[in-house]
Amino acid sequence: MPIFEYKCNLCEKDFERLVFLGEENNIACPECKNKDVFKKMSASSFMGNSIGKCATSSPKGFS
Ligand SMILES: [Zn+2]
Repeated sequence: MPIFEYKCNLCEKDFERLVFLGEENNIACPECKNKDVFKKMSASSFMGNSIGKCATSSPKGFS
């Protein structure tokens, strides 16, 4: 489940939210409940070890 960083456009608070599917346009600031927030595309929750595993190591000699 992705965690995104947001910044409120009203009170300028930075906050993180676990965002469920379809909810990302309905995020409110925890401070002032304002929904005019700016999503900062944080990659921190995607820094796993899944990069480059599929593309380069496909086994040959399948048949
Ligand atoms: Zn706010």
